[in-house]
Amino acid sequence: MVRPQSKAVERPLKVISDLPLRPQDETECRRCDVHCDKVVYPAACVEGACPFLYAYEEFGRTYVGCMQKVYGVEIDLELLEEAQGAKPGFGAVKARRQPLPMCRAEVSSCYEHRRDRLGCVNPEFFELPRESPSFRVIARIDAD
Ligand code: SF4
Ligand code: SF4
Repeated sequence: MVRPQSKAVERPLKVISDLPLRPQDETECRRCDVHCDKVVYPAACVEGACPFLYAYEEFGRTYVGCMQKVYGVEIDLELLEEAQGAKPGFGAVKARRQPLPMCRAEVSSCYEHRRDRLGCVNPEFFELPRESPSFRVIARIDAD
C-alpha cells in the first residue's frame, strides 16, 4: 500500500519550484515567513564619492540621489550628514535594483523568529556583488 506524503515533504518541493533563475537579481524575497530585503547605505555613497551620485539644489537645500537608481529616493544632504554625525547614523534605504559592486549593501531580514526547520530555501539571495572577489586563487607551479 502506498502511503500519502506528509505535508512536511510537500512544502519544500512547492517552494523550490518557485525559485527564479537568478535569485541574486531580486531585491526582496518572501519565500518563507522571514522577509528579506536588500538595502543600501546612502551615507556611504557620499563618503566614497561614488561617480553615480548626483546632487542638485532646490529651495535653498541640496538633495542627493543615485543615477543608477539602486535606491529610488532623493535625500536632503544636510539632514543625511546631521544624522550620520550621531549614532546609529543615517541608516539604510531599500534597494530598488540589484546593488552594484561599489555600493555598501546588505540583506536585512525581519521576523527571524519565524524561520522554520527547513531554513532559508533561497540562499543565493544573500550573494551581493563585491568590489573584489571574496576568495583567492592560488596556483602552485612546481619547479622542474
Ligand atoms: S551606485 Fe551605489 S554607491 Fe553609487 S550612488 Fe548608487 S547606491 Fe550609491
Ligand atoms: S530567509 Fe531565505 S527564503 Fe526566507 S525570505 Fe529570506 S532569503 Fe527568502
